[in-house]
This record gives sequence, structure tokens and C-alpha cells, in this order.
Amino acid sequence: MIIIDGKKISQNIRTEISQDIIRIKSIYNVSPKLIAVLIGDDPASEIYVRNKKRSAIEIGIDAEVINLPASTTEETLLNLLDQLNNDQSVHGILVQLPLPDHIDEDVIIQSISFAKDVDGLHPVNLGKLMIGNPYLIPATPSGVQQLLIRNNIAIEGKHIVICGRSNIVGKPLANILMQRDVHANATVSICHSKTPNLIDFTLRADILIAAIGQPNFIKSDMVKDGVVIIDVGTNRVESNLTKSGYKLVGDVEFDTVSSKASAITPVPGGVGPMTIAMLLKNTALACESILKK
Ligand code: NDP
Repeated sequence: MIIIDGKKISQNIRTEISQDIIRIKSIYNVSPKLIAVLIGDDPASEIYVRNKKRSAIEIGIDAEVINLPASTTEETLLNLLDQLNNDQSVHGILVQLPLPDHIDEDVIIQSISFAKDVDGLHPVNLGKLMIGNPYLIPATPSGVQQLLIRNNIAIEGKHIVICGRSNIVGKPLANILMQRDVHANATVSICHSKTPNLIDFTLRADILIAAIGQPNFIKSDMVKDGVVIIDVGTNRVESNLTKSGYKLVGDVEFDTVSSKASAITPVPGGVGPMTIAMLLKNTALACESILKK
């Protein structure tokens, strides 16, 4: 049984991107510039954005965070995005989600130039992915595909069951894995909270991807022997074993399911580190695409 090492793979990808950035700089004399917009003071969002900035700077991306108060109006945010869209020195823009209730997430996502949409959530980028002509792909799903590819786990011809149909994970992931491509060509089933008899699907999965958001939801009796498990779930649960009083667990009951799996991602250290790596890859790609024009 292989424990898929997302930390190591993400480090390899970061090294590759830093070489790309050196190449881009040697051709255009420009470093990619990423702007992250953070609204309000949600502690988890603050940590995510801080990590993204630090990781970007480490590999040669010029990264800045714009902090705005929770009371920021939609109009103010739209004006800021307009400014960033038109700023030729900016190549990547991300608005950290979730947003305060009074701001419409869809409106904001659609107001980021799709050329700079490094989260890959703009309808143009999702549409391009769907028709098999991808540009910027959502980071977590593309990270999942890289984990499979870089562990030599065949995707082609496999039955992949994805639990979860969010726009950020489940839906784009299904689109990635079903494409006509040697690193895809899977038969994909997408399950969700209204799927009756979920176990009938999970038991037939060659590769099972859990993106539900419920701790230890997938148990060993729900999977077949030799299954590959990708656990996207990241859930904080109370623990008296840690200083902080909580620990992170996935959607899969790791200890029991791993005894049946041929490969499995841990939480933390599996999909999580890949998300930032693929965001950085998108930033380098957006930069080069903009400079080429
Ligand atoms: P959402 O809450 O947006 O979506 C959860 C999905 O799971 C929904 O489609 C929901 O169905 C489905 N679901 C819920 N309960 C069940 C059930 N009992 N059986 C089958 N399906 C169910 O979550 P996200 O997609 O944003 O995130 C999922 C998990 O992945 C979370 O733990 C999140 O923290 C983690 N995550 C981790 C990332 C990383 O970098 N590692 C990045 C993004 C997310 P329905 O649509 O019917 O409601």
C-alpha cells in the first residue's frame, strides 16, 4: 500500500514552476505578480492567504495581499477588481472565499478577468475546461490529477467515483478526469447528498475521491480491495492529543480504509499541499499567456 506524499510531489512541482519563472524572466524581464484580496478577518482565510503569499514569494512570484474590512461593499470590491484587471503589471488575481454574506460570490468571480483568474472559477475557465480546451483550471482538482499521474496510477479506463459536486472540487474534477486525454479517459460517477445507496457506487470505484466535508465518512466496508483513495476532505475535529485542542482529519477513515487500499492520501499532507502548488502554476501560466499577447 502506498501513502501518497502530497508534500513531496508539491515540492517537485514548485521547483518546476520556479524554473519556469526564471525562464519567463529571462525572456520578458518580468516576474509574475499575484494579488490576493482578503475581505474581513476570518482566521482560517487569513492563514490560507498568508500561506499562499509566502509560497508564491519563495518561488519568485511577486505576491501582495490587499486586506479590506468585512464591511467592504460589493461596489468597492468591483472597483478594485476593475483596477486590477486593467493593471498590466498584475498577472494573477484571487479573491479569498468565502465572502461576507452581503457580497455576491458569483458576481465577484465573474468580475475577475478570466485571463488573470488563477483560481480557475470564472465561467469562461470552467467552460473551457468542460469543452476540453483548458486554460486556468481550479487548483484542488488539478492537484488531484497530478497526485495520480505522478504516482503512476492509471486514470484511463478506470471507474472513478467522486463524492461531492461543488464548483470548486467535484464538478471540475469530473471534467478533468473524463476528458479525452491519456491522463484522463476515466468513466466518472459523481455522487452527492441526494444519491441513494451511496455504497453501491463507492464499492464499484477503482479510484474513490471524497470531497464531502464530513470527518471519517467513508468507512472500510464502503470500498473494494485495492481501491485508490484520494481524500480531499479537510475537517477540524477536537483532539486532546494536540496543543491547539483540534486536529485535521479527512472524509475517509484512514486507519481502516488504508488496510484495503492500494494507495491513499493522508490528511494532512495529501491533497492540501497540492492546492497551493497548482495555484502557483496557474499564476506562472497566466503571466506567460498575458506577456505572449
Ligand atoms: P461543499 O460543502 O461545497 O460540497 C460538499 C459536497 O458533498 C456537496 O456536493 C454535497 O452534496 C456532498 N455531500 C455532503 N454530504 C454527503 C453525503 N452524506 N453523501 C454524499 N455526498 C455528500 O464542499 P467543498 O467541495 O468546498 O469541500 C469538500 C471538502 O473538501 C471539505 O472538507 C473542504 O474543507 C475540503 N477542501 C479541501 C481543499 C484542499 O485544498 N485540501 C480545497 C477545497 C476543499 P449536495 O451538493 O447534495 O449538498
